[in-house]
Amino acid sequence: MAQHHIIIGGGPVATNAIETIREFEANGSQITLICDEPAHSRMALPYWLADQIPREHTYTADDDFYQRLNVETRIPERVQSIDPGASTVQLAGGDALQFDNLLIATGSSPLSPPIPGLDLPGVQSLWSLADTESLLNEANSLKKPRVLMVGAGFIGFIMLNAMYKRGWQLTVVEREAHVLPRMLNASAAGLVKSWLAAKGVGLHSGTTVSSISQGDGSSKVVELESGEKIEADVVIVATGILPNVGLLDGSGITTDEGIVVNDLMQTNFPNIYAGGDVAQGPVLHSDQTAMHPIQPTAVDHGRIAGANMAGHEVHYPGSLLMNVLDVCGLQCASFGEWSDSSAEAITISNAGGYVYRDMLWRDDEMIGAIFIGRAGDLGMLTDVGMVKGILQTGTRFGEWKAHVKENPFDIRRPYTALKVAQQLAGTTLLGRAAKPRQYRFGGHEATVPPNPSHKVYVSTK
Ligand SMILES: Cc1cc2nc3c(=O)[nH]c(=O)nc-3n(C[C@H](O)[C@H](O)[C@H](O)COP(=O)(O)OP(=O)(O)OC[C@H]3O[C@@H](n4cnc5c(N)ncnc54)[C@H](O)[C@@H]3O)c2cc1C
Repeated sequence: MAQHHIIIGGGPVATNAIETIREFEANGSQITLICDEPAHSRMALPYWLADQIPREHTYTADDDFYQRLNVETRIPERVQSIDPGASTVQLAGGDALQFDNLLIATGSSPLSPPIPGLDLPGVQSLWSLADTESLLNEANSLKKPRVLMVGAGFIGFIMLNAMYKRGWQLTVVEREAHVLPRMLNASAAGLVKSWLAAKGVGLHSGTTVSSISQGDGSSKVVELESGEKIEADVVIVATGILPNVGLLDGSGITTDEGIVVNDLMQTNFPNIYAGGDVAQGPVLHSDQTAMHPIQPTAVDHGRIAGANMAGHEVHYPGSLLMNVLDVCGLQCASFGEWSDSSAEAITISNAGGYVYRDMLWRDDEMIGAIFIGRAGDLGMLTDVGMVKGILQTGTRFGEWKAHVKENPFDIRRPYTALKVAQQLAGTTLLGRAAKPRQYRFGGHEATVPPNPSHKVYVSTK
């Protein structure tokens, strides 16, 4: 009898798992996708917010796509609970569905800190399609919205950049001593701080918001711990995320920080898989597991889970922590064990020129890095790509380490000499060449024509 795969979620884990199951399975199976939102890519939301793409370009599947891949959809519906013993999921609408294999790809949700006034109109998170739409509606009636963002983390700053592109007036409040505390060290964050000041973005770090109250008209008054009061039209709460594990209550599925999975993406129940933001999975070149709530990890997890659900055993080597960010024109990147204070560091810093590099080593192996540079600094951008490849392959530098110490701007020579590109070219996640995604915007035209250099990436071919 045909296997029944149930997938909960409609993000990159789910869509990649569906395509991989169809690519790898020997016999046709039944796939049911259950999600409370249309399938879309959250990382495309900032482009919609910045008015660079229409809403439809954030979608990653449509009815035609599901029909072609023979997927039954229950959208928008929610799964309320899971019973591994009976192999069933209980839907909020009342139905119970039986599965042979289940993939939990429910992602994560923004935290709601205990700040009085969070329920006021114009105070919101900025995480989903609905959040983005609500902010765009709010901003529509204002000439130059004053936006205050609570929290200065990776995702918050991605959305901050989109609002900066629109010319909005921006202020950020961060509880920690410096911005991007889970992505940059204090020195690197110092460059970001002065860059933000030069770009007219207000920053209050080392303080918290004690309350939000209604001001004149639709404006809000945000009071800081210090007693300072700031007026804003919109308050965005971006103080962190938590994995969506509520549906596991009473199921016996093991969780730690997230759902614990092995290198096949299996939970403690072999026919129940998990991946993406909700999962705590293997880490590259390590025997640890960790939460890496980023798109590349979600895509990898979806493809590995899909292959294994289709009966094709593939082991995951683990994800590499990486955050690459444009802060209002300043490029920031960090990789791997960038915060390991016990590692040997090769550091260069030119704060006035907005250049910073911190490469961390264990013997002759680079284990983590932080890079900061201006958008036009081509050397920095190509080096960031090469360093990512070096970390992914775990290349040992041997005598080339001394060269990097002497010439920290010359990554290209060791990258070439140590044949990192050849190692990368010979590596595939699933043991065969990846196929391009099978959905291309469902024929929706862009509202803004792509510029010539961008066109090649967004062509519908
Ligand atoms: C604004 C924004 C920008 C981002 N930009 C980047 C970036 O530039 N680079 C990067 O690497 N990462 C980025 N990310 C992070 C990246 O989008 C996530 O890591 C990725 O979406 C995780 O994929 P997922 O499939 O695990 O979960 P999601 O994409 O969150 O999808 C999970 C889906 O499941 C649904 N769901 C949850 N519970 C249930 C339930 N009980 N029943 C039914 N459905 C349910 C959710 O509503 C959601 O639609 C960004 C995230 C955001 C919010």
